[in-house]
Amino acid sequence: MLNDLVSLFYPRNCVCCQQPLIKRETDCCIMCLTELPRTNFATNNENPVAKLFWGRIELTFGYSVFHFSKGGKLQSMLHSLKYQNKTQVGIFLGKEMGQELIKSGKNEKIDLIIPIPLHPEKERLRGYNQSDFLVKGMSNITSIPSDNNAVIRTVHTTSQTRKAKFDRWKNVDSIFQVKRPKQITGKNILLVDDVITTGSTLESCAKVLLENGASSVSIVVVASGT
Ligand SMILES: [Zn+2]
Repeated sequence: MLNDLVSLFYPRNCVCCQQPLIKRETDCCIMCLTELPRTNFATNNENPVAKLFWGRIELTFGYSVFHFSKGGKLQSMLHSLKYQNKTQVGIFLGKEMGQELIKSGKNEKIDLIIPIPLHPEKERLRGYNQSDFLVKGMSNITSIPSDNNAVIRTVHTTSQTRKAKFDRWKNVDSIFQVKRPKQITGKNILLVDDVITTGSTLESCAKVLLENGASSVSIVVVASGT
């Protein structure tokens, strides 16, 4: 009764299609939930995202939760999270990532979740780091602690979209710095980002964490092109 009244005055809408939610639905409607293109990579240690890092850096595990397809529902969700202040989309996707982590049993291997930091100037302009909300949702579901300030980004990289792969490698080399080494020493860390392309940014951040005493690093992203 109270719930009906609340939804009468504060209608809840799907974070994906914006249609009103029915009683049992939270965040996302059943229709959109079933349509989201899941990868099922979490339980496959030889998935395309993990393979991206082979020969580059040693990860405990790495995977994406969804496939990224142009023009798809997920693309518009990620866009609204990044550019339209739709932070609740980030929390929803983070919860999905958290559930996937628990389902795979890999939550047992993680002590601390860290979002890939944005450059402070970029974060100031945008007003937030979208990955902070992914981590918030994940932490909420898994009860694994998170830290948004252990690592910072130091160099402002120019837009990488038009650069050749080789140049990107140089571009992202050591742009991260551990600000609170005590926080990461001896910990099994999970790095979180929204979309993975070449993996060079994640690789660079993982490297810095390992060099500063992290026991292990794993990677989970919302979506990959593969
Ligand atoms: Zn929907």
